[in-house]
Amino acid sequence: MYDAVVVGGGIVGSSVAYHLARAGVDAVLVDREDEGRATDAGAGILSPATSSRTGSDPWFEFAVEAVGYYPDLVTALRDEQDGEVGYDRSGLLSVALGDEEVEAFDRAADRIEQRQRTLGEPDPDSYAEVTAAQARERFPALADVERAAYYDDAARVDGKLLTAALRRAGNHHGLEIRTADAEELLVKDGAIAGVRTDAGTVEAASAVVAGGAWSPAFGDQLGVEVPVEPQRGQIAHLDLAGGGANRTGADGSGSDTGDWPIVSPFRGHYLVPWPGGRVAAGATRETGSGFAPRTTADGVREVLDEALRVAPGLADAALDEVRVGLRPVSADRLPILGGVPGVDGAFVATGHGATGLQLGPYSGKLVAEMVRGREPETDVSEFGIERFE
Ligand SMILES: Cc1cc2nc3c(=O)[nH]c(=O)nc-3n(C[C@H](O)[C@H](O)[C@H](O)COP(=O)(O)OP(=O)(O)OC[C@H]3O[C@@H](n4cnc5c(N)ncnc54)[C@H](O)[C@@H]3O)c2cc1C
Repeated sequence: MYDAVVVGGGIVGSSVAYHLARAGVDAVLVDREDEGRATDAGAGILSPATSSRTGSDPWFEFAVEAVGYYPDLVTALRDEQDGEVGYDRSGLLSVALGDEEVEAFDRAADRIEQRQRTLGEPDPDSYAEVTAAQARERFPALADVERAAYYDDAARVDGKLLTAALRRAGNHHGLEIRTADAEELLVKDGAIAGVRTDAGTVEAASAVVAGGAWSPAFGDQLGVEVPVEPQRGQIAHLDLAGGGANRTGADGSGSDTGDWPIVSPFRGHYLVPWPGGRVAAGATRETGSGFAPRTTADGVREVLDEALRVAPGLADAALDEVRVGLRPVSADRLPILGGVPGVDGAFVATGHGATGLQLGPYSGKLVAEMVRGREPETDVSEFGIERFE
């Protein structure tokens, strides 16, 4: 009999499981490794201050705390396991190309200023307007933009690497990991008794549903609605290493793509550079896509058109791969975290939508605290599943 079983091993479930194991809880992680796992496709931008979602106070305040937790987590993971963690500090360029984007650029700058006044975030020294030439010095493939601002307090995370590190570190603390399909939660006398999987029953005193877009499957058994839907995202990975826009810098500075900033224009798309000549160009946001994690001609065209509009210097890059993930989007686009009323030992950690790489590791920490019967260090009662009743 385990203390806890976590269903779903994306970044959220892996974080819950890791934090449980780190606290000495006897836990098991059950993951089906679905194709379309959002974590494997995520772009990895960690920058609440410049996010288009800064309009939502609950989201913004939680995101600032969640991203603030990353450095501590990364330090712990570097101690607790040997592999790469996939996290790095990075700059971020907000750029505007046409009139409509200039308006959005000004609105975003106003929002940032307002946040600085009311919440003290972001640090005023971290955000400044730069010229088009200065922007291109930092991102050599960039178009001749009309306006640009540089924010030097962003970070990027490779969701796959971080999740693998959480699992290895969890394992080091005694976490057991099983690849299996959790078919049914076992509920006895109003309390969790375990999970039935296609590879046998796992008895446990508590269960955490962290199944990303697949989480609603457990709603009926728990007597609640889990209003989460898949939103498909296609993201193209370009490889500049073999040629194309020179990855050693237009100015011959020799900077690698690993030093280039994230580029964030104002049509919901972005470019995320990684070391070794890789630039990820994302992403589509397809509601109504259902559970069909596949590329489409239209989706690939959309992300490539937008990438080349903003950074024509990428035109000759090789198209390395197109990743597809299903974002778990909740009805109000906020995460769903905490206990399920009426079923002792049942918890949910899902609904992180387009920002689960930013929020997920911290959500996992807080839900692990709740599973252990503690008050979470940040009050997340407004993210409870009761709000949908
Ligand atoms: C293209 C794209 C770009 C993105 N960019 C960013 C970004 O820049 N910044 C950001 O913060 N976020 C980003 N996101 C969002 C982020 O990736 C997601 O919010 C996050 O990964 C969700 O994690 P999760 O663990 O909830 O779900 P997932 O990663 O989808 O994992 C769910 C897991 O649960 C398993 N599972 C489900 N049901 C069962 C079951 N019954 N039994 C066993 N296992 C089960 C699945 O197999 C899967 O492994 C992006 C997403 C996409 C698709």
